[in-house]
Amino acid sequence: MKIAIFGGGVAGLSAAINLLDRGYDVDLYEKRGVLGGKVSAWRDKDGDTIESGLHIVFGGYEELQKLLDKIGAKDNYLWKDHALTYAESEGQQSAFKKADLPSPWAELIGGLQADFITLGDKLSLIKGLFPALSGNEEYFRSQDDMTYSEWHHIRGCSENSLQRLWRPIALAMNFIEPNVISARPMVTIFKYFGTDYAATRFAFFKANPGDSMIDPMIKYIEEKGGRVIPSSRLSKFALNEDDTVRAAIMADGSEIEADAYVSALPVHSFKKIIPRAWNKHRYFQNLYQFVGSPVANCQLWFDKKITDTDNLMFSHGTTFATFADVSLTCPDDFQAGIGSATGGSVMSLVLAPAHHIMDMPNDIIIENIMKDLHDRFPRSRDAKLLKYTMVKIPESVYKAVPGVDKYRPDQRTPIDNFFLAGDYTYQKYLASMEGAALSGKQVAERIHKRFNGAD
Ligand SMILES: Cc1cc2nc3c(=O)[nH]c(=O)nc-3n(C[C@H](O)[C@H](O)[C@H](O)COP(=O)(O)OP(=O)(O)OC[C@H]3O[C@@H](n4cnc5c(N)ncnc54)[C@H](O)[C@@H]3O)c2cc1C
Repeated sequence: MKIAIFGGGVAGLSAAINLLDRGYDVDLYEKRGVLGGKVSAWRDKDGDTIESGLHIVFGGYEELQKLLDKIGAKDNYLWKDHALTYAESEGQQSAFKKADLPSPWAELIGGLQADFITLGDKLSLIKGLFPALSGNEEYFRSQDDMTYSEWHHIRGCSENSLQRLWRPIALAMNFIEPNVISARPMVTIFKYFGTDYAATRFAFFKANPGDSMIDPMIKYIEEKGGRVIPSSRLSKFALNEDDTVRAAIMADGSEIEADAYVSALPVHSFKKIIPRAWNKHRYFQNLYQFVGSPVANCQLWFDKKITDTDNLMFSHGTTFATFADVSLTCPDDFQAGIGSATGGSVMSLVLAPAHHIMDMPNDIIIENIMKDLHDRFPRSRDAKLLKYTMVKIPESVYKAVPGVDKYRPDQRTPIDNFFLAGDYTYQKYLASMEGAALSGKQVAERIHKRFNGAD
């Protein structure tokens, strides 16, 4: 059976890999010249790697790690120290380090040792977070009717812990503030933070997500006989009388016929091409509930090292919410002699919240970033900025606001030969590489069940 997949992000690539493994014939069409979607990376004219966004693999990403193993990329990422590192004013740093004990003692003892929140904050958290730590999926989904700030205050947790500890985490996870994000994804990650010692470890790709993950995925697909076709944009679907797909019509007018079709487009792109006839189904109407979160990723090349921290960092009250010096975290790229790098720091910064910076001129954004860097990393005051790049994504992952979780669609649609994959489709994770990988696995299961009657 021939399956046509549209969209070459992690979801589409994972769907292709899982379908090939089940013996299907797979063609994957991607609009851009580069594969990977939000995880894509490419080289600019100077030979520097530009990333759509700084990407971290979490210890809890079981599906993604299995996928990386399968495609021969298990050595392409590096685990870092088990800590949440917060950059503070005047070069100070605070850390929430897990103690070397089994969960929940690791978190409890580690949390009690954190020096950037008070004892009162800590006690309020221990008491307040208990329902999240003992909760199950049903409980997490039931918390989708309020924002995280509301949940935090109802549970009696302190304002200081919200601002200092959890605000940067909300911004890192979904690029929105704690008084905008639903409690649902936050309490879900508390469960991971609080009960599974390994789940909160961070790993960085050794080079960049393109070389370390996306290229090996493409290689695996092609070696298994699948085809990956870049620069091919899906324009619309032509339907049969019963509303099933007759053919996919591409932007160049060509028609693609297959036994089943998978959209692995981001939800905002898919909404634009939903055939009118399908809108009679509540399933498709629900997709209009999703709105993308704006975010930007800024990379800055310096002539000197401005930090020694070889890990992900968070910060509070700055233009950037989460960031890293990729010249330290990624030893196979961003090193002296590669592109513009001279051995100095290469900062990769995720700018969030970012609604106000989408239209702001880049030089103003950079001025603000430099002020913040001078404050957080005093060594940057004597370093020369050699170059910067900015990638703005007006609609990135869907905003996980209260009430939206229930609209996340299953991968099986009401249309018999049409399926959905993508980080927004229903799986146990929020929009993430793990969520996208899981959605690809689940779409392959749904297709197999539909055409073979069993998983
Ligand atoms: C700045 C940033 C940082 C992030 N950091 C992390 C992180 O640290 N860890 C983590 O787990 N996740 C992170 N994420 C989230 C993660 O990148 C996404 O959740 C995941 O990559 C989404 O994968 P996807 O395949 O569902 O969608 P996408 O990556 O959006 O892929 C969809 C693909 O469809 C293509 N497409 C669109 N329209 C068409 C069309 N008409 N025809 C053909 N193709 C089309 C697009 O070009 C794209 O390649 C981050 C995201 C951003 C933006």
